[in-house]
Amino acid sequence: MPLDRLWFDPAQVFIGGRWLSVQDTLPLEDPSTGAGIGAIARGGAAEIDAAVQAAEAALRGEWGRMTAAERGRVLAKIGRLVLERADDLAVLEARDVGKPLKQARADALALARYMEFYAGAADKVMGETIPYLDGYTVYTLREPHGVTGHIVPWNYPMQIIGRSVGAALAMGNACVLKPAEEACLTALAFARLAEEAGLPPGALNVVPGLGEEAGAALTAHPGVRHLSFTGSVGVGQLVQMAAARNVVPVTLELGGKSPQVVFADADLDRALPFLVNAGIQNAGQTCSASSRILVERSRYGEVVERMAARYSALKVGPAMADLDVGPLISARQKEIVEGFLRFGSDLTVAARGQIVADAPKGGHYVSPVLLADVRPDHRLAQEEIFGPAQVVIPFDGEDEAVAIANGTDYGLVASCWTENGSRALRMAKRLRAGQVFLNNYGAGGGVELPFGGVGKSGHGREKGFEALYGFSVLKTVAAHHG
Ligand code: NAD
Repeated sequence: MPLDRLWFDPAQVFIGGRWLSVQDTLPLEDPSTGAGIGAIARGGAAEIDAAVQAAEAALRGEWGRMTAAERGRVLAKIGRLVLERADDLAVLEARDVGKPLKQARADALALARYMEFYAGAADKVMGETIPYLDGYTVYTLREPHGVTGHIVPWNYPMQIIGRSVGAALAMGNACVLKPAEEACLTALAFARLAEEAGLPPGALNVVPGLGEEAGAALTAHPGVRHLSFTGSVGVGQLVQMAAARNVVPVTLELGGKSPQVVFADADLDRALPFLVNAGIQNAGQTCSASSRILVERSRYGEVVERMAARYSALKVGPAMADLDVGPLISARQKEIVEGFLRFGSDLTVAARGQIVADAPKGGHYVSPVLLADVRPDHRLAQEEIFGPAQVVIPFDGEDEAVAIANGTDYGLVASCWTENGSRALRMAKRLRAGQVFLNNYGAGGGVELPFGGVGKSGHGREKGFEALYGFSVLKTVAAHHG
């Protein structure tokens, strides 16, 4: 899909079912080349206020009157349109984010799956009746919060929009979405498809813009009744403080330093592709990237050697060339990652991937690097690099594995590789993370699986049925009838 044949205007905002131009724009860049490819809207406080008002009007109007089954039907239609346009959406995401085309297509299919899942779930959220005093009937209702604010990062726009906006709409909320300034094309494309599917005006509003302008305005707006934020720890803290001022609930999906723990009895042939792919997917710019590989000492050398062989074969190049690894999102992100890697100059480089010779010079390429013999307290084993780099750490025995795995501020996901079933179940209990994988990593990213962190990885759960509880308020009704 060439960017001159888009089915929406990337320099507009979508508010109350209308596409509107704004005064200022921001440049749009292709990370694979570093070249400008257009402009996006620079929405601000005025547009956010208009969007919140449009969302409130939607709740008083057609959208607010729809039954759960009717909402599900609209979501199902959005899902069908997303599926039909999956190839176009993939090209948009590849150009905008720089992710290899196959990975971008997987994201488009995940967006469709979120719509399908939440379409089916919309009319299956039920309350309870509670046995109580004689003469009473007590029951609970699950009601929407009202206007929900969604702040999304640039690394997986389609997946994150699917999981948060999908669940919020299913529960009958009206959404104001602030996509990342670095990558907002698929958010706008999605809004256009939602409109085509018959989503009533104002149920979904999209305001691209800078974080400190549109994002901050959304978090501070008193009309917003719930905030869903995915991004960095620092901004997450600002969002939580803004939510505190208005006393609204907030879901924070932040970063990670997720470990894979490999015991000596692991099936290495099965584990190896996961060990590497989980670190380099989306050029390591994945919240749930596995950036730490912990290996029991007796097989440590073998694992490093086999991972190194894979790293040496990795090809890095433009998103549309669909190689193993694409560019980073921006020159700034490249600087951050390279800055981190300079702290690793004392570490052993086990292997690097190769940037292909014809990769455009202006693209933000970083060659993936595997670092061996890393101390668990080393800065690169503690902090989120958010680039294509993994550290390998040896351990002796289960207790040390648990101590190292749990020894960072984060707790997003973790995995354990072992053929010993009892140990696998023990490790699932002992690992501190929102998701634990046994003899796999990521479980294919299933939309059905509740997701979220502990510690600095955040709180609250999105995805799966659990998200529907987060995007609703429980009301208890106690009727006295004598
Ligand atoms: P970021 O925090 O800089 O930006 C995320 C979003 O917040 C963007 O839309 C941005 O415009 C907005 N924002 C920035 N400043 C703001 C402010 N003051 N008020 C309100 N909104 C503001 O993060 P990023 O660099 O885009 O993403 C990288 C981080 O996100 C990494 O730490 C990564 O681990 C995390 N992440 C987490 C998940 C998850 O599900 N846990 C998923 C993807 C990314």
